[in-house]
Amino acid sequence: MSAEALHSLVAAAHRVVVKVGSSLVTDEGRGIDHAAVARWVGQISALHGLGKEVILVSSGAIAEGMKRLGWVQRPREIPELQAAAAVGQMGLAQAYESAFSAHARPCAQILLTHADLAHRRRYLNARSTLLTLLAHGVVPVINENDTVVTDEIKVGDNDTLGALVTNLVEADALIILTDQHGLYSADPRRDALATLIRDAAADDPALVGMAGGAGSSIGKGGMLTKVLAARRAARSGAHTVIASGREPDVLLRLAAGEAIGTQLRAGAAKLAARKQWMVDQLQLAGRVTVDAGAARRLRDGGASLLPVGVTEVGGEFERGDVIAVLDAAGTEIARGLSNYAAAEARLIRRTPTTQIETILGFIEEPELIHRDNMVLTRG
Ligand code: GLU
Repeated sequence: MSAEALHSLVAAAHRVVVKVGSSLVTDEGRGIDHAAVARWVGQISALHGLGKEVILVSSGAIAEGMKRLGWVQRPREIPELQAAAAVGQMGLAQAYESAFSAHARPCAQILLTHADLAHRRRYLNARSTLLTLLAHGVVPVINENDTVVTDEIKVGDNDTLGALVTNLVEADALIILTDQHGLYSADPRRDALATLIRDAAADDPALVGMAGGAGSSIGKGGMLTKVLAARRAARSGAHTVIASGREPDVLLRLAAGEAIGTQLRAGAAKLAARKQWMVDQLQLAGRVTVDAGAARRLRDGGASLLPVGVTEVGGEFERGDVIAVLDAAGTEIARGLSNYAAAEARLIRRTPTTQIETILGFIEEPELIHRDNMVLTRG
């Protein structure tokens, strides 16, 4: 495909995750590059004006913390890294806060660990919070919560975190801004014949060999983590673009349809991938039986399941557990993530949405299972 014919996959995307790497954010460790931050933030604000939703994943806490503490060598000890992250994150938050203020665009800091995304209840909570921020026109600025992570609960690099966030909010595209022009067929520093890959399927196995393993000394991720992140993002239907964050107006031009850097296409349909994940990976912790009307609305219309349609609740599940939805004959028709624990579901079954708060004293969501979190398992 010629460069001219290639159209940016970002143009059609409504919800976009933008990840910026440490060496870009901190000007290769020299300290936060406020001018660069202002440029990305200006572009993100403009994308909002075009009706797109943007979530920013920003690295740079450790690099900035080291700079502020006067450390030249990246420490090896975890507590030292965590201390640097705690110091540097203040700088990141301050930089984004003032850059977004200049555009009168509210932003919010979210610090996540892998445990927040692996545990279903916390996954749902994080998702609800992020979607609520987006609904209010706020740009979430995310980093790993480096100060508390241990090996067991850490994501480890922000390319992967960006992909997990892409899955979490079901973004249409993940843009990884880095200090290189994209993915090359071989390491361009060693191979004069290396060419920029402009377009490929995210799951193309050849990409892993091209990406190699080398990362920079500033951030954590190399090209390999970016390729694997693209593969992960594709599971929820998102395309990935790897492009240079130094390219002028890179985000705006991508959104306008210009293909810049490397684009890695998602193959599988968005919902199919997510539904597959739900069916394959999680244990069923309980079940609800629904009346004929609710069963029909689930089967025919892809509706959410409201508490009013539930006649019986079985098992002991927590908010965020996967449960089965049975019809009156006891046949499983769907599975999904419950917004309520079993004890709560028992109290609000057969209850109109308007009564939930009166009965429970709080309301998590109007649905027992939102349709985005549900897969039909039969007819
Ligand atoms: N969370 C780390 C930081 O902000 C960066 C991880 C990465 O470089 O991917 O310093």
